[in-house]
Amino acid sequence: MKIRVRFAPSPTGPLHIGGLRTALINYLYARKNNGVFILRVEDTDLNRYVKGSENYIRDALRWCGMTPDEGPETGGPKGPYRQSERRDIYKKHIDRLISSGAAYYAFDLPNELSDARLNAEKKGETFRYCSKNRLKFKNSLTFDESETKKALEEDHVIRLKIEPGKEVRVFDEIRGYISVSTNLLDDKILMKSDGMPTYHFANVVDDKLMKISTVIRGEEWLPSLPLHKLIYDAFGWETPKFMHLPLILKPKGKGKLSKRDGYEEGYPVFPLQWDKNTFGFREMGFLAEAMINYLSLLGWNRGNDEELFSLKELEKIFNAKGIQKGGARFDYEKALWINHQHIARTNTK
Ligand code: GLU
Repeated sequence: MKIRVRFAPSPTGPLHIGGLRTALINYLYARKNNGVFILRVEDTDLNRYVKGSENYIRDALRWCGMTPDEGPETGGPKGPYRQSERRDIYKKHIDRLISSGAAYYAFDLPNELSDARLNAEKKGETFRYCSKNRLKFKNSLTFDESETKKALEEDHVIRLKIEPGKEVRVFDEIRGYISVSTNLLDDKILMKSDGMPTYHFANVVDDKLMKISTVIRGEEWLPSLPLHKLIYDAFGWETPKFMHLPLILKPKGKGKLSKRDGYEEGYPVFPLQWDKNTFGFREMGFLAEAMINYLSLLGWNRGNDEELFSLKELEKIFNAKGIQKGGARFDYEKALWINHQHIARTNTK
């Protein structure tokens, strides 16, 4: 099977080095396996869209020398590669799930749902719109045909109808099997009231239609994996392989490396400058190759103590078996040391 991987950022601001590390692992996996590296822009969340981010992502990938084989600029056989340009595709696919009964329309108003949420909280329960209570709400399961037709003229969403009492089991190449009971899941929204798909729905449809063989992304998406599996199942589709990369942790203490850590401690967490307050590795005097080398070591190793690699070398030696499960601590001193080594190498060439 042809290896096809995708880097699928959302244009919600500058690309954090965690995102760039995901791009790098996808890129290396594609190059090592004679595969295809795809850039897909996930811009369906209109509220979080930040102008200029897509250009930033493109410039960052270009600076690093990771040119996509298919993407919004390059084009390719499975385009368009910007989700906002794929609305008719999502519409066609959601109609399939509505017809098969795997999804349903829901007409509840935001205040009705927040009341239901508050009531549940008062009883110390977590509110979930699911098999237990969906027949108490306004949706195409409780409305007759003419009521549904009328309600469709107003704002509405489309939800996945999740059957209770089942175990969803999915395999992750790094973590092994994960499994969750459908009793713990809610009937997630697949299409929003603005007519845009949610991340989950668009992501699954696109991975399928773009023939993605392996989904490589950050660990923060692991909790969504059972839901994604249920969407694949609803269509009767096989899932691709999945690899969830370990988080990049703060240099000290608990939690993920954040933008704030960079501001407070004076080190970059972005590849390039974004605005006057956000400097990048490039502006701090890093060679792209050194930054890439450092990022490759965040959660991966070659199986020995070698640590200095050019991008071309990484393309040859990369092996996904070297990806670790545990989070990788960000260490700016080490990044500086690696940069120093690369500069010394360049000077002696
Ligand atoms: N758009 C998601 C993000 O920006 C992509 C997650 C995925 O790769 O599935 O993190």
